[in-house]
Amino acid sequence: MRQSSAALCALPDIRSGKSFGEAPQTRCDTLDFLQKTMRNVVIIGSGCAGNTAAIYSARANLKPLVVAGHEAGGQLSLTTLVENFPGFPEGIHGPELVENMKKQAQNFGAEYLHGAVLDTDFSTRPFRLNIEGEWIETRTVIIASGASARWLGLESEQKLIGHGVSSCATCDGFFYRGKKIMVIGGGDSAMEEANFLTRFGSEVSLVHRREEFRASKIMLDRARQNAKIKFIMNTVVDELYDPSQKLVTSVKLRNLKTGETWVQDVDGFFVAIGHIPNTAVFKGQIETDSDGYIISKGGARTNIPGVFHAGDVQDRVYRQAITASGAGCMAAIEAERFLESEGH
Ligand code: NAP
Repeated sequence: MRQSSAALCALPDIRSGKSFGEAPQTRCDTLDFLQKTMRNVVIIGSGCAGNTAAIYSARANLKPLVVAGHEAGGQLSLTTLVENFPGFPEGIHGPELVENMKKQAQNFGAEYLHGAVLDTDFSTRPFRLNIEGEWIETRTVIIASGASARWLGLESEQKLIGHGVSSCATCDGFFYRGKKIMVIGGGDSAMEEANFLTRFGSEVSLVHRREEFRASKIMLDRARQNAKIKFIMNTVVDELYDPSQKLVTSVKLRNLKTGETWVQDVDGFFVAIGHIPNTAVFKGQIETDSDGYIISKGGARTNIPGVFHAGDVQDRVYRQAITASGAGCMAAIEAERFLESEGH
């Protein structure tokens, strides 16, 4: 949906952090300024990958513009304590970590724009990006728009994200030592997470809505051979308790074949029903696989010279904050070298 400049001007201030050159003072001044300015680098996404790309490209004096996106801060903004990001022996809260990265980038001159990229034109250079209805031009683009975890969609589930509900066993499994854990899904992710979580949980229930599995045989066999995993088949989750306590205490389950419902005590609830890469606006322009993940052409390169990828939008395997940050660094270095090779 296109928005007029007037509509965009009515949105909250898009500008934050230090400015460069003659700084415009209002949101609309900023838009005018952006439209008139050819950017060196526009970074799409403000999670670990986008923020790290911003730090590196800002330090290379490229004055990057970061378009924060609808889920500003990425998946870290949905987590609580992060204990596996190097450099924080006591751990750090996800939202704080990602905010620190943003401030670090701003200190070197990166600019952040609230809002999302609605359309792109990579057919000619300079590339064109439609941000909330306004087109801007840029010499390079770093796509760090991430992949969003697929959720069940229950209201109680959404309220308990970060309070017992998680989409990342590697990130949050440790918090459920000796506790009751439930994993939802029937693919490789669910098998992998269930296996991993048996290191921590007193028991792990794997709930799947069908009799058949999408998971590969080897992953399924490994889970089946794990005595700590209890399979609950043909079953869906109807409700999570208890949002009023801001804590997962139990889950209401329903057997789809018999209609039987029951409530089971649970402390940690892991949803492993897939991810959706945020690549819809690049459709037809950037090469993706059949699930929508960007296909890497080596390093941080996409099929279009000057357009780079970073983080979960391309990575369906590791999906960690630290790997996304590493990928952001790679993309910024490649963008810098690309600009240099083009004489900028
Ligand atoms: P997936 O293969 O798409 O499986 C998703 C699972 O979630 C399916 O069992 C699906 O059930 C279930 N599901 C989807 N929506 C649901 C809903 N609303 N309610 C309940 N259940 C729902 O996703 P994935 O497991 O994340 O794997 C994605 C890709 O990454 C695959 O290619 C996989 O092989 C790969 N991967 C590989 C590894 C590894 O090799 N180590 C690890 C993880 C992932 P239905 O089957 O009924 O549709």
